[in-house]
Amino acid sequence: MGAAAEAGRLLVINAGSSSLKFKLFAAAPLVAGLGGLIERIGDAANSTLSAKLRLPDGSTQKWEDKTPITNHTTALEKLMRFLGDNVSSSIEQEVAAVGHRIVHGLDIAKAVLLDDAVIKKIEKAAALAPLHNPPGLAGIAAAQKVFGPAVPHVAVFDTAFHQTLPPHAYMYALPMEYYKQHSIRRYGFHGTSHKYLAETAAAMMGRPLGQLNAITCHLGAGSSVTAVERGRSVDTSMGLTPLEGLVMGTRCGDLDPAVPLHIMRTTGVGAAEMDAILNKRSGLLGLCGNNDLRNVIERRAKGDPEAALAMDVFIYRVRKYVGAYTTALNGHVDAIVFSAGIGENSPLVRALVCGELQRLGVIIDAEANAEMVGGRQGFISKPESRVKVLVVPTDEELSIAQQTVGVVFGDMGEQM
Ligand code: AMP
Repeated sequence: MGAAAEAGRLLVINAGSSSLKFKLFAAAPLVAGLGGLIERIGDAANSTLSAKLRLPDGSTQKWEDKTPITNHTTALEKLMRFLGDNVSSSIEQEVAAVGHRIVHGLDIAKAVLLDDAVIKKIEKAAALAPLHNPPGLAGIAAAQKVFGPAVPHVAVFDTAFHQTLPPHAYMYALPMEYYKQHSIRRYGFHGTSHKYLAETAAAMMGRPLGQLNAITCHLGAGSSVTAVERGRSVDTSMGLTPLEGLVMGTRCGDLDPAVPLHIMRTTGVGAAEMDAILNKRSGLLGLCGNNDLRNVIERRAKGDPEAALAMDVFIYRVRKYVGAYTTALNGHVDAIVFSAGIGENSPLVRALVCGELQRLGVIIDAEANAEMVGGRQGFISKPESRVKVLVVPTDEELSIAQQTVGVVFGDMGEQM
């Protein structure tokens, strides 16, 4: 790694339409420092900056600061003043690179240094990710303005890890013109998380990533499963958009494509409302009126039949994908990895997904499973389980920081 990185810090930014998540890392070695969130950007009366720092003794220092923030540029200016006051008075000179989380990168297959051509591609991809890419671009423009031309910016794409999908996995069986003229195909999302899960699982199992076959389950408010063959994504449950695949908090996941057409024809619902029904009013919320699985599990325990049904549909869909991806990997699965809010915290979900899969080589250790909650990382399968089952708290910011270091200062990121 170069001298610049040794002296410097990395800033990771994840810009939403009215929010900006950030995390500051020391560059060498790569260690996470202060992280936080600027919320309600554009709603000047209510905008806030909150930040948290874990201290060496395990305690945390917290800040919450209400200040009018009108756009992403004022948000970043505010952030730099805040970091200047609370981290280092020379923070402006210390930030050696900025890593940006960008959702859709079309055919870009790895993290890249931002230049005009990459920005054009992110703009083009905005047609496929209208809620995510425009705020990402706003974050880039703001950071370029605040840091000036001397600081390199790196884009890390949610879609990049899935660019290794073979055509038989990414093509929809639609008229070819929609692929050729409109780029309609499966892209997959949560790629930064699935990449991190595969790398971490390989390290935990003591084998090179290139020799690991795994099924990685990112189960949170948005959920997806990925089949990883020799360290590369070969199939994933999300498609053109994050709507395909698993049942999620408010998204329906897989659906007969005739269903929305039928609803539109018979009820007069228009395209925008149909979009909202599928993305915001379906999933667990649609099935039982609650999109937080914690509440669904509580209601189910009290005998609520709608909650029990929602849970059954959710679990069955995950199991179907685990089965399908076992076949995609020709039956050669070294590991099943659970992550994100549900995967990291719900022994019940993990037990139900993996239950009765002994014939596939999966044997869960109930005690280890019960203990693996609240950010703990480890194995939850019995030693005799042919397929290892792991819980890995995902860390997309760390992965973005690693990839940013790799792009700007050499390929150290590739080794981690
Ligand atoms: P994420 O999108 O990764 O932040 O995950 C958020 C989701 O995780 C929430 O909507 C909850 O449904 C779920 N979650 C968090 N803790 C638990 C838990 N202990 N049991 C079940 N689900 C949980």
